[in-house]
Amino acid sequence: MDVIPVSKTSTKAVGLDYKSDGLYMDSNGIKADMPKYYRKNSKKLVKEQRRLSRKTGSKKKETKSNNYLKQLKKVNKIHRHTANERLDFLHKKSTEIANQYDVVCVETLNMKAVANKGFGNGKATVDNGYGLFLQMLEYKLHERGKYLVKVDKWYPSSQLCSNCGYRKKLSLGERIYQCSCGIHIDRDYNAAINIKREGLRLLYC
Ligand SMILES: [Zn+2]
Repeated sequence: MDVIPVSKTSTKAVGLDYKSDGLYMDSNGIKADMPKYYRKNSKKLVKEQRRLSRKTGSKKKETKSNNYLKQLKKVNKIHRHTANERLDFLHKKSTEIANQYDVVCVETLNMKAVANKGFGNGKATVDNGYGLFLQMLEYKLHERGKYLVKVDKWYPSSQLCSNCGYRKKLSLGERIYQCSCGIHIDRDYNAAINIKREGLRLLYC
């Protein structure tokens, strides 16, 4: 496989910022969210799992009742269905990006740390499959002779102004990055631009 020569002017590059409540925001301001049907099924799964926990047989020493086994079948079916949908979506998105760009810059994430950060949405974070998505992206880019550049997780992508380089800390609730240079931009969009810039810097140096 020939590797596509990376030139600064002709390279199609993109930066992706991880989103705990979706999948990512890219450096063009385009958001990739898990599809609605996936969210709907996830909710359904939680509901049916709760039902299962109330059936006789859900506790360790109980004999499993017929109702329990019936409910377990139902839960497993939704589980499989949801997992397949998620996988399809991640494949679709990673193929799309690998076809469209020559260089993809991402942040390496400590998924465990993200999940335990205490946003109250730890489960959503673990479930959204970003780690899996990055693996898919890596081999699909590699197959095409393209590049995945991993930016260090300590790089302050969300703190830097993507326009002037000024650095400040945003609180978790602040969704807009505002700077005295005049920029007024979505927080994740700003981070994705910084990730792209840093990734390209790493690639060329
Ligand atoms: Zn600025």
